[in-house]
Amino acid sequence: MIDRRSFLRVSALAGTAAFSGAFSGTAFAAAGPRPADWSALGRGLDGKLIRPGDASYDNARHVFNAAFDSVRPAGVAYCATAADVSECLAFARRFGVPVTSRSGGHSYAGWSTGAGLVVDVSRMSGVSYAGGHATVGAGARLVDVYAKLAAHGVSIPAGSCPTVGVAGLTLGGGIGVVSRQYGLTCDVLESLKIVTADGKTLTCSETAHPDLFWASRGGGGGNFGVATSFTFRTHATRQVTLFFLHWPWSKAAAVLKAWQSWAPTAPDALWSNCHLNHDPSPDVMVGGLYLGGKAACENLLQKLVDRVGSGPKTRYVAVSAYDHAMMVEAGCSSLTVAQCHRPGTLPGQNPSGRLVRDSFTAKSHFAYTPLSSAGIKALLAQVAAPGRHSVLLDALGGAVARVRPDATAFPHRKALFSVQYYAHKSGAAAWTRAAHAAMRPHLGDHAYVNYVDPELTNWRQQYYGANAARLAEVKAAYDPGRLFRLPQGI
Ligand SMILES: Cc1cc2nc3c(=O)[nH]c(=O)nc-3n(C[C@H](O)[C@H](O)[C@H](O)COP(=O)(O)OP(=O)(O)OC[C@H]3O[C@@H](n4cnc5c(N)ncnc54)[C@H](O)[C@@H]3O)c2cc1C
Repeated sequence: MIDRRSFLRVSALAGTAAFSGAFSGTAFAAAGPRPADWSALGRGLDGKLIRPGDASYDNARHVFNAAFDSVRPAGVAYCATAADVSECLAFARRFGVPVTSRSGGHSYAGWSTGAGLVVDVSRMSGVSYAGGHATVGAGARLVDVYAKLAAHGVSIPAGSCPTVGVAGLTLGGGIGVVSRQYGLTCDVLESLKIVTADGKTLTCSETAHPDLFWASRGGGGGNFGVATSFTFRTHATRQVTLFFLHWPWSKAAAVLKAWQSWAPTAPDALWSNCHLNHDPSPDVMVGGLYLGGKAACENLLQKLVDRVGSGPKTRYVAVSAYDHAMMVEAGCSSLTVAQCHRPGTLPGQNPSGRLVRDSFTAKSHFAYTPLSSAGIKALLAQVAAPGRHSVLLDALGGAVARVRPDATAFPHRKALFSVQYYAHKSGAAAWTRAAHAAMRPHLGDHAYVNYVDPELTNWRQQYYGANAARLAEVKAAYDPGRLFRLPQGI
């Protein structure tokens, strides 16, 4: 049995960011809430409010990213219903308490926690299916979405990390291993329920609040309201073929040159990424998934091998059931679905969970044109620098590119692939900064809002491009008082 984590030796699922300074929101109003006010809020919820001093407070306040463990919210509200969310927002308005939405807690910058009230939607995690449509609670973790939909023989295109929350992923776009065939997660979104700053629950779709629906497909979480559920168009699942090909580092330039012309233009059914790792020595790998049989997949892989000019040193190509393939991509091939969670008894956790938190920093680019020889050389020099780090290139094109850049708030439709600079723990920030800066002349200034980066200065343009102005209009219409604030908030 092989899984992505052990094969790559990149624990992309166990990482966290080490950016400095989690969002602590605005200062409390002078007449902030008294303990009795907090108690009243707790009593008024169907869900549970956890406060400093409660036994589960530390567990409740910790997000995926251990770098933000020093952040101490005044309360974490595990909302059971949209009405609970509305109660929390009324409390925040009344007392001037900063409010932060949280689903899976994977924000790279720790922007789903803060000093005020954390509105956690993890209790709203139901997944139901009928007639080609899935309704998913905003707090559902991806592993549960895949597993529950698999029981109906269907799925949605979404990310690979099992504990990422569906809300953060979808609101920022959602790049996944079947996106070239089926689109981004936000591309299969048909409607969502969202509690806006005034406490109303709106159902948004192409025909109801279409501007807010547009903004909720790539505008990024935490900006317009607290989403409570999503309805997606599903696709039928089938057997797939998984592959992982490793070349020696001496072939890295040839592999990268070949991959960037092969991967974004391959048939939609083939998705792949190119991982350039340094852990403990530099290494290059192309992995991915083909929505079809092994022989057809081998034929497509041979085209890559021909372009590289030499065969891989190791090659793994195997047919897999769809749900198992998602567990492999999640790094959970040897775990049960229950084990493929963070351990604990709070909403979003599982008593059998085995996944751990970690620390990382990351930055991103989108490549709109293939890297030149100089760009390839510059990238490989960064990977070869001392340290424990990776560059992850994920192929786009296919269905992602067939959506107009202004049709949803996610603008990077014409990008060939995403680029993520990813490093662990100490010294990590210096490396990600250096790698990002070194590649800027070769890749330009585009970034993925789901790889949110507090150090970007021109972030509006980089995340949203020409869609930034319309996003600002939607913000003004739905949150004129700016109840929802982020350091890089629309
Ligand atoms: C290990 C790892 C692997 C990843 N893999 C992928 C991948 O394969 N593809 C991909 O596209 N991305 C991937 N990501 C990035 C991921 O999509 C983003 O970090 C995403 O924002 C996480 O969503 P969340 O709900 O888990 O996080 P959270 O931290 O809970 O939320 C992220 C943002 O959305 C806001 N938010 C949360 N819930 C709500 C809500 N209900 N309503 C409104 N706003 C809300 C938060 O305030 C925060 O600003 C990965 C991240 C990690 C850490």
